Amino acid sequence: MPELFRAANAATMVPGAPVIHDAAVIVHQGIIREVGTYADLSPAFSGTVTDLGDVLIAPGLVNAHSHLELAHLRGACPSGKGFVAWVEDLLTQPIFDLDDDLLGQALDECRRTGTVMVGDIATRFAKRMAGALEASGLFFTVFTEAIGESLPKKTFIPAGEFAHGTLSVAGHSLYTTHTDVLRAAKRESRGRGLPFSLHLAEHDDEVAIMAGEPSAFLDLLQARGRLLDFAPPRKRPVQQAADLGLLDATTLAVHCVKVTDRDIETVRDSGATVCLCPRSNEFIGVGRAPWEKWIGSGAPVCLGTDSLASNTDLDLWNEARHLKEHFNGELSLDTLLATVTRTPAAILGAGRHLGTLEPGKRAAISVVPRKITELFQ
Ligand SMILES: [Zn+2]
Repeated sequence: MPELFRAANAATMVPGAPVIHDAAVIVHQGIIREVGTYADLSPAFSGTVTDLGDVLIAPGLVNAHSHLELAHLRGACPSGKGFVAWVEDLLTQPIFDLDDDLLGQALDECRRTGTVMVGDIATRFAKRMAGALEASGLFFTVFTEAIGESLPKKTFIPAGEFAHGTLSVAGHSLYTTHTDVLRAAKRESRGRGLPFSLHLAEHDDEVAIMAGEPSAFLDLLQARGRLLDFAPPRKRPVQQAADLGLLDATTLAVHCVKVTDRDIETVRDSGATVCLCPRSNEFIGVGRAPWEKWIGSGAPVCLGTDSLASNTDLDLWNEARHLKEHFNGELSLDTLLATVTRTPAAILGAGRHLGTLEPGKRAAISVVPRKITELFQ
């Protein structure tokens, strides 16, 4: 039977569309059939009416960057000591000792806090993560992470294996993944029409390693037998990514903290989408991305929680709240909502199904919590 959801306000996130007052969304068989005002849609409607009351509804949220494999490390890692200390600690943790109960709790937390889709990075257990996401009812793109000198095997799956998502490939970073592997991973994903993800310009050591300058992190990697023959490109990270052909409209560039104005132009002109992870950056202590410049640049910008090894929770509304609270200058509710709905849905390849409240899309509706709306009053 069709259902009509009534709410005081609805931000459909259709570009340019105003907030609908006294809104109605008609849903049938999991699909949005009509969106409009209650006055317009209710007379001809027959079915169940659910009045959500004095709330603002929006599309279900899309968390563009997480590492659910690390769900069991919630609260286990130190914060604020910088990237090298954070990685050194992480390497002492039982990284691959997954815990199904704690993973289940993390997935529950995503759903409970309005998230309907996750862009997840998997280092070792991509299919297991995809299976857990599928079972939880969340939509997903799981990126198998290419790290080191070989492309992960069985990265891609036949279309249709999962009803709620797909697998693609990510490069871990410019300094931990061989350039040939990064190029091959990008070529593979692009050829299949899938998104590609890369941690980019996250911290000062990345800048130093790329520039060929001394780096405590490079010392750490080489002590573990990595990057022994690494030849620094002597470029800034963004420039190196661009020169390797890694930046285009199907790339999700994650973090983008250590960037110059020219770097921002390079990413913007490439068409890549930027994923900011404000609370992870603060937790690790790498500094803060120039959020205002990114959003002002016109580049598509979305938000991710990153992992529970570098964040306290997976509540994407907390990420949005952090951004708004610490933003210098004007940040409209519409712009903020786009970073957690329409923009990440598009880059993760789900723009036809999620990201806006429109007829034909999935009935994925979130209620914008008071902790967000109160920041705009
Ligand atoms: Zn990450």
